[in-house]
Amino acid sequence: MKFIETRGNDGQHPQLASFSEAILNPISSFGGLYSPESLPDLGLDFLEAHLTTDYRVLARDILGAFEIDVDADFIEQALALYDLFDDPANPVPVVKVHDDLYISELYHGPTRAFKDMALQPFGVVLSAIAQQRNEQYLILAATSGDTGPAALETFKNRPNVRVACMYPVGGTSDVQRLQMVTEDASNLKVIGVKGDFDDTQNALKTLLGSAGFKAKLKEKNIHLSAANSVNFGRIIFQTIYHIHSYLELVRQNAISISEKVYLDVPSGNFGNALGGYYAMKMGLPVEKILIASNTNNILTQFINSGVYDLRDTSVIPTTSPAMDILISSNIERILFDLFGSARTRELMRQLSTEKKYHLNESELARLQTIFAADFCNDQEGKQYIKTAFAGGYLMDPHTATCFKAYDSCRDRPLKTIAYSTAEWTKFSPVIANALTGEVDAHDIDALKSIAEKANIKIPPTINELFSKPITQKSVIEKDQIEAEILSFL
Ligand SMILES: *Cc1c(COP(=O)(O)O)cnc(C)c1O
Repeated sequence: MKFIETRGNDGQHPQLASFSEAILNPISSFGGLYSPESLPDLGLDFLEAHLTTDYRVLARDILGAFEIDVDADFIEQALALYDLFDDPANPVPVVKVHDDLYISELYHGPTRAFKDMALQPFGVVLSAIAQQRNEQYLILAATSGDTGPAALETFKNRPNVRVACMYPVGGTSDVQRLQMVTEDASNLKVIGVKGDFDDTQNALKTLLGSAGFKAKLKEKNIHLSAANSVNFGRIIFQTIYHIHSYLELVRQNAISISEKVYLDVPSGNFGNALGGYYAMKMGLPVEKILIASNTNNILTQFINSGVYDLRDTSVIPTTSPAMDILISSNIERILFDLFGSARTRELMRQLSTEKKYHLNESELARLQTIFAADFCNDQEGKQYIKTAFAGGYLMDPHTATCFKAYDSCRDRPLKTIAYSTAEWTKFSPVIANALTGEVDAHDIDALKSIAEKANIKIPPTINELFSKPITQKSVIEKDQIEAEILSFL
């Protein structure tokens, strides 16, 4: 399979890229992204044939249908990482919560958030491509909390790859910070930056675009890449669990094969939702994809009105911080797929010059045949956490946003697969507050009180963090980032 450019070609970038090229250089002409030229058509036969296979076989066969240029034994190595999940036979459990609502739990991997679903296998694939080419890579990552731990975990001790990961000091939860600063592999560097997430994100963008920085890396024979969520190497692994979750509903006799379902996705950068969209295009029987947001509701506005408007907006901190995003990068791939490269380029240009674009009526109608959207504020989220807990289901504040979309966006009584993107352990102070009203300054106190209230154990991987030695001690000013990374190399 080949990849084409969302904003057309500038005569300098390749018009057609292979999977490995699209992974190593995700940015195409005019600042666009590489998108699949076509998608495999899986069909009902494929679904039926996989009712009795496990996750690994399903994943192998979906990747096989994509015909990517990565050796089969590397793909096997990548997929073997799902064996590190809680239940290797079923890394993504799907749980009925009430009525038509089923939760697909994407957080059973090593860092307890859904980023592992894609980043775990992606680490093997990227390292494999680097080895095939006999090249050394520096992966830059900026994180508000979940991407950093998952990226470090996947790349640690992998050949031909080093990672420099920046996080905002004070901007992550204790658990997220400890997951990063206790990593001790020699190919990993974690850098606390005095500033907020935007500062670290901007530093990352500046470095990725800096000719001077690249020249200095070249002297050391190192190429630069990024593990952010526009990378198709992550997206491809995010089509699999949507198909798996559908098959789980069939296995549980909740639906018959070919019956339509809603997918209900807590969304930020739209990687998860895009994976659902591609699964739908590959033949998964999906009625609509429900896009759940928090108070940063730019996607709700966009899907309901066709207007994407960044003017007079700034990010509002919420209790679901992984969704505190205004520029949702993977939307571009939807625009491209629906409206083509000329229109996408025009809309993206308007967004950068006028901070706003709007779809015409027929474009909006088309978008709304696929997506519906609503947002859930922190108060509502807290209430959903409480109610679900009373019914026996413990969930995190990102997952809670799906409950609002489930209540308000469905116009047919179809079974709904909502996605749980983080374990309760990652956002414990918010959950403890919802359940008992307590206000905990530290995660460890909240973890203990939830464990007691729910009569469960704090998972060992989380508990151990609090006694592990801190190995990553760099905390620096914004303007020292480049020097800090170069001295690590
Ligand atoms: C990253 C993340 C999201 C948002 O996912 P996107 O693919 O960026 O839309 C939601 N919840 C959690 C917990 C996350 O870490």
